Amino acid sequence: MTPSHPVGLIWFRRDLRLADNAALYAALQQCKKLFCVFIFDDSILAPLPHADRRVEFICQSLAELDGDLRAACGRQEAGLITRRGLPQDIIPELARQLGADAVFCNDDDEPAALARDAQVAHRLRAMGRSLQRSKDHRIFGRDEVLTQSLSPFSVFTPYKNAWLRKITPFYLSSYPSERDLAARLADRPEGERRPVPTAAELGFEAGTLDGLKLPTGASGARELLDDFLPRLPRYQAARDYPALKGPSYLSVHLRFGTVSIRELARTAHASMQREDWDAAAREGAATWLSELIWRDFYFQILAHHPHVVERSFKPAYDAIVWDSGPEADALFAAWCAGRTGYPLVDAAMRQLAGSGYMHNRLRMVAASFLVKDLGIDWRRGEAWFAEKLNDFDLAANNGGWQWAASTGCDAQPWFRIFNPVTQSQKFDPEGRFIARYVPELARLPARLRHAPWLAAPLELAEAGITLGRHYPHPVVDHAAAREKTLARYAVVKAGDAGSAASHS
Ligand SMILES: Cc1cc2nc3c(=O)[nH]c(=O)nc-3n(C[C@H](O)[C@H](O)[C@H](O)COP(=O)(O)OP(=O)(O)OC[C@H]3O[C@@H](n4cnc5c(N)ncnc54)[C@H](O)[C@@H]3O)c2cc1C
Repeated sequence: MTPSHPVGLIWFRRDLRLADNAALYAALQQCKKLFCVFIFDDSILAPLPHADRRVEFICQSLAELDGDLRAACGRQEAGLITRRGLPQDIIPELARQLGADAVFCNDDDEPAALARDAQVAHRLRAMGRSLQRSKDHRIFGRDEVLTQSLSPFSVFTPYKNAWLRKITPFYLSSYPSERDLAARLADRPEGERRPVPTAAELGFEAGTLDGLKLPTGASGARELLDDFLPRLPRYQAARDYPALKGPSYLSVHLRFGTVSIRELARTAHASMQREDWDAAAREGAATWLSELIWRDFYFQILAHHPHVVERSFKPAYDAIVWDSGPEADALFAAWCAGRTGYPLVDAAMRQLAGSGYMHNRLRMVAASFLVKDLGIDWRRGEAWFAEKLNDFDLAANNGGWQWAASTGCDAQPWFRIFNPVTQSQKFDPEGRFIARYVPELARLPARLRHAPWLAAPLELAEAGITLGRHYPHPVVDHAAAREKTLARYAVVKAGDAGSAASHS
């Protein structure tokens, strides 16, 4: 293809890699000369806490991207332009300064991103320039997998079956960019040759990733993927046990696009059919692909039903009255701090606070506990996760919370209430995860770590624990809370109870 634009600009957002990047490919196809920019968006940075691991993750990943750009063309003058402010103002102005008549980016269906992009596109159009969006961070876009009557799916299993029927090598193949990059990358104007700022230079706390096993950038994603692939055959067997190294830990990389979803889905899809793997190993690959499909599923739910950001997917559930007031606030604070007296919930919440990650099984348990044991509005928990999770993604987080609260599409039925003790016995049978994150219980025999209030006084004394002093008494009684929850949800008509999907 002969490039049709003399100068173009690629705007990186949640796609911080050069390999297999759809917008980069489109830009390289269409532009003779290409500039690259990332904008630290003040409307996103402003509400973040001072110590935010994601800012550091982004800065380090961008520094790598900048280095990769310069290495690709062998010139220090090329590389990433970084700016801080509002993209609506910066992108059109930068395009004008650079003489770029087309701006390329990968699309994003979050409501705020859609509004921002519409504004940018409008301003560029008024200047005779264009914004071209490519699909990159999911396999299928919002309207690519629909029911026979062309409406969006709201139940996962038929969505997944349709997804699997539709998938072909076309959707999984990568966008090569290496060859054209060297020839097309433009040198940055002199005033734009600054290094990528650090988190501290942006006014955030430095060192937030220190001590965490969280490699950043495209090389970090590669490291995690290489580590995970030998474990993929055992994924199905290991993924539900938080004390085991079961899942891939790639979610933050998927969030910021330091890895290509096409590469992951292609690998999983091919592994499902490997004849040299036994049935259990192929099942491991199929289950992992299924998780990646949940991700696509929630993206299309958010795109088609943006009301979920504020309200229940199923409107009937907005009639539920959640507990509020000082007592509910105190329970919420105990949940956030990992001091509910339910060890698995507390371990989960402390894992989140200490690392920015929480195991999927524990996200389900902790979310269910907040909503169905403490009677607190799922939106409060959703907001807490949004602040703390490195991999926070509006669509997946909202989908996960509405699933746990039974208010969402294909959600856990409202009358199904996780028992935090039996979940603990089942998924952390030796209490190893609990001992890691709630060390004050580590001296208790494993069988007692799930519910220390059931231990005999002597057993507690031998472990050096006084309940209420070293570790809290349970903040609620699960059996009583369960009854209260069933009554709370009774306002919702029984007919709207939702289907019994098994989430992830
Ligand atoms: C209440 C709640 C909140 C959640 N919030 C988020 C969130 O903000 N961001 C996020 O990426 N995931 C979220 N999840 C989904 C899931 O817990 C994480 O994706 C997973 O734990 C990430 O770990 P991993 O990369 O090791 O996962 P793996 O098991 O290796 O899975 C591979 C990838 O599949 C995707 N995936 C897995 N499970 C789901 C799922 N249920 N929904 C959507 N995508 C999935 C993720 O991109 C993940 O990286 C949430 C789940 C619940 C129940």
